[in-house]
Amino acid sequence: MIDETHKAQLIMELRRQGVADQRVLEVMERIPRELFVEDLYQDQSYANRALPIGCGQTISQPLVVGQMTQALQVDKRMKVLEIGTGSGYQASILARLCRRLYTIERHRPLLRVAEARFRQLGLHNIHTIIGDGNRGWPEQAPFDRIMVTAAAASEIPQTLLDQLKPGGIMILPVGPTAGQDQDLLRVLKDEDGQAHVERLFPVRFVPLVEGLPVGNG
Ligand code: SAH
Repeated sequence: MIDETHKAQLIMELRRQGVADQRVLEVMERIPRELFVEDLYQDQSYANRALPIGCGQTISQPLVVGQMTQALQVDKRMKVLEIGTGSGYQASILARLCRRLYTIERHRPLLRVAEARFRQLGLHNIHTIIGDGNRGWPEQAPFDRIMVTAAAASEIPQTLLDQLKPGGIMILPVGPTAGQDQDLLRVLKDEDGQAHVERLFPVRFVPLVEGLPVGNG
């Protein structure tokens, strides 16, 4: 059973932990996280933790979603790219804050379920594709903002940086994923195309994998 008080408590916790952007908090209050959570974990929909979503992947912890969304500084005029659709939760939140959201997922079964959720929520500004997010989405580039929700092993993927507009921001976790934290980075690309990297805080993500799964049915 979904308890509205759990949701209200979660929003208060996000605020306490530094999610101050009112637009981000309002959108997180409006998007039903239970829609993105598997039956087995329904009662934990508003717990502040990551949960399994199938294909060995997870829906991120709400606090991390709030912090990453806030750090991306999205507005209604922007074209945004997300790598790693997963459950579609982060994509739905971004879609409410930007003009168009493009999202890439390598697991076909996850993407199909996420697309059904976008339709159910009437989110018609989300464009999806099956693919390897390391390659970005060249046909739609450049983007005002890029968010990567899986961890790059050792460095910022140059292809993604190339697809970011001058003046744009990219948020991504970088570092090995074998049981340790990664660094969440904010990359600012200046008007001359120079990247400025700021380390935000430690996070734990699944790895950004190369290529597509075998037999991606
Ligand atoms: N944003 C998601 C969380 C996703 S977990 C949500 O809100 O639920 C990370 C996702 O990134 C997984 O679904 C994983 O399959 C995907 N992923 C990992 N490497 C990828 C790649 N190279 N290209 C596209 N998706 C990738």
